[in-house]
Amino acid sequence: MLQDPSAEAAELERTFIAIKPDGVQRGLISEIVSRFERKGYKLVAIKLVVPSKQFAEQHYEDLKERPFFNGLCEFLSSGPVLAMVWEGQGVIKYGRKLIGATDPQNSEPGTIRGDLAIIVGRNIIHGSDGPETAKNEINLWFKPEELVNYAHNSEKWLYGK
Ligand code: GDP
Ligand code: MG
Repeated sequence: MLQDPSAEAAELERTFIAIKPDGVQRGLISEIVSRFERKGYKLVAIKLVVPSKQFAEQHYEDLKERPFFNGLCEFLSSGPVLAMVWEGQGVIKYGRKLIGATDPQNSEPGTIRGDLAIIVGRNIIHGSDGPETAKNEINLWFKPEELVNYAHNSEKWLYGK
């Protein structure tokens, strides 16, 4: 593997993406990973984990006043979650586009939630909603040494340089 020490220095954009327990149990890992991969984003970290309820509460801290908070955290901690970090130009914002609206009833066809989910409480995937959240979520879910810096062969074809 080619190490790319310039990756950190260049502050390439990264986002945290997680396939929730419903997506894992429904056998949608490869479908979802392939959508990010085929777009051209680079996978820099991936692991299958069962988060504790306390960890789920930390992850969704900003929603703690919402009525669905407890059920949401119970659900996220109910089984394996596929945690990932994806890298690429504009990946935070465009990753959210690939995912689609929070409620699958409002997600456009062609998006992950639009194509693969029906209700808001089982919308199969999480994606960071901005640069600050992305940084915090990556730090919460991954140790620095779990993030793999490498040059991908396709980069010069994706970015033209
Ligand atoms: P996201 O960033 O699109 O995932 O949406 P939010 O950050 O607003 O909410 C986090 C997660 O909470 C969503 O992905 C849903 O799984 C869940 N959620 C959001 N709104 C509702 C709701 O009104 N009812 C229920 N049951 N779950 C919700
Ligand atoms: Mg959110």
